[in-house]
Amino acid sequence: MNKSAILLIYTGGTIGMKTDPEVGALCPFDFSQIIREVPEISKFACRIESIAFDPLIDSSDIEPSLWEKLALMIRDNYDDYDGFVVLHGTDTMSYTASALSFMLKNLSKPVILTGSQLPIGAPRTDGKENLVSAVEIAAAKRPDGSAMVPEVAIFFGSRLMRGNRTTKVNAESFEAFQSPNLPALAEAGISIRYNDSIILKPSKAPLEVYTSLDTRVSILKIHPGITPGVVRNILLGSDTPAVIIETYGSGNAPTKPWFLDIVRQAASAGKVLVGVTQCLAGTVNMDLYATGKGLKEAGVLSGYDSTTEAMLAKLFYLFGSGRSKEEIYSALGRSMRGEITLI
Ligand code: ASP
Repeated sequence: MNKSAILLIYTGGTIGMKTDPEVGALCPFDFSQIIREVPEISKFACRIESIAFDPLIDSSDIEPSLWEKLALMIRDNYDDYDGFVVLHGTDTMSYTASALSFMLKNLSKPVILTGSQLPIGAPRTDGKENLVSAVEIAAAKRPDGSAMVPEVAIFFGSRLMRGNRTTKVNAESFEAFQSPNLPALAEAGISIRYNDSIILKPSKAPLEVYTSLDTRVSILKIHPGITPGVVRNILLGSDTPAVIIETYGSGNAPTKPWFLDIVRQAASAGKVLVGVTQCLAGTVNMDLYATGKGLKEAGVLSGYDSTTEAMLAKLFYLFGSGRSKEEIYSALGRSMRGEITLI
């Protein structure tokens, strides 16, 4: 059997940084040095090649044009590799994984993002284990030769998680990410145990890559004391055809008339309004309380158990693909890439 071939795409992030004495802060260093720090990966029975972003970036600087670059790098190399490992800063890794999950349709190969909390050259780095496990997962095949994990996923700490279900929850711990509403796709211990029943099936259709994203989406986080001016600016802003409303609990928001009036005005102006929950885990169910019902009647759709990151990416993708409002409504009510659990 042929050896698996893996393409490592290095975008930047802590994993490949070291302290630059001149700047006095962590700065990216070149990729060959990363590989030198992890001789373990040459022991895998797979061919590993790499390409790097130029310039390398701290992931706080990620933007849709770089998601496009990443998606095109994957498309252009898709037939030559069995899987892809993307080294990425942790700060925005969940946003990138969510965006890629929508941009890459009909995946039949793994796209595994990873990074680290400590640079790979640091004595207690988590980067080596993350990288080694991500490569092993990207190369893993089923007995019929198809990919074990044909999804965009994040490996971090000890778990493989569906990318569009993740959120960064800790700025210091080695378990920096959680997938609060979907169990891990795999757990790494002595061996890697796959949770096969929830891993998406490989697509038989050819890969389709969508790079046109419409980023005119804003986010309104409800909080006690929020003022009419703030709500009006975000919900009625002229440049935002869609707003994600981060609601309390299971989709609740204030019942004050001024608040619901502004929501109604936004809905009747044709804006797409979607509610997600501020809670780390759980789902929106606007029929549970009168406070949620008010929002639903005012024109807000349920975002179910979507993370904010995944909903942002989904709306960028839906609006970027030129769909009609009805098509967008229907797409928001279904799971397109495993990003929501319908109730
Ligand atoms: N600021 C870094 C980044 O996101 C943090 C990290 O990689 O953990 O690029």
